[in-house]
Amino acid sequence: MTRQLYAVGNWKMYKTSREATQYIEELAPLVENCRAHVYLAVPYTSIAPASHYAKDTQIVIGAQNMHDAREGAFTGEVASLMLKEAGAKFTLLGHSERRQQFRETDAAIHKKVLRALQDDIQPIVCVGETWQEREKGQAEEVLRNQIMACLGEIPKEEAEKILLAYEPVWAIGTGKTATPEIAQAMHAHCREILGELFGKRKANTISILYGGSVKPDNVAELIAEKDIDGVLVGGASLDPATFAKIAHHCEKGK
Ligand code: PEP
Repeated sequence: MTRQLYAVGNWKMYKTSREATQYIEELAPLVENCRAHVYLAVPYTSIAPASHYAKDTQIVIGAQNMHDAREGAFTGEVASLMLKEAGAKFTLLGHSERRQQFRETDAAIHKKVLRALQDDIQPIVCVGETWQEREKGQAEEVLRNQIMACLGEIPKEEAEKILLAYEPVWAIGTGKTATPEIAQAMHAHCREILGELFGKRKANTISILYGGSVKPDNVAELIAEKDIDGVLVGGASLDPATFAKIAHHCEKGK
């Protein structure tokens, strides 16, 4: 089974619109013929200008979050159709920074996944355990609960539009990457759960990305693992040359 390969950058709350467009101009020629999908999750304010500059390039622009309602009295929030009109093709959902700092629950993430699918925004659903949970031997159970809650009741035919990102919380922004063995074991576990939800055949078509301190010098050994179909990159995506190197590693080794 060949699955699509992805290098997804998450800029978090970095870069103004001007910086975003300069970045796209630098990145575009570097990933021109990349066989992996090159995605950038940018701040809301940069979605429209970045999409404009990314037109006719290999780069796909998306968001880092969205609200689950179509519209309404939700001060400070952004709806999926607003993202879509601005040019976003995908959105991250349930990033651990959203879960931890903004108290996002699996139930809220589930509603967002449904809305994103309905409005044709590809969801990248993030799951992962904390260090404490890993130490207590609960990592597998935590992932099972998150995946079941976030992706339960999604129609089977919609499942293939979703990307799953395994991001151990202890590896995000810490410089501590999961070993390829740990990452592979957790990805295989995620795929098994996807199989329970959507059937084994469909689960084998869903790309699962690894995130957590990915750098040009550790990406190759991660991507070489059987169930790792790409990477979600925070800090190392902020520099176009570094991110381009990572993206090119993602097209290899399969
Ligand atoms: C992330 O923000 O999803 C992430 C994985 O960050 P970093 O690569 O900096 O660990």
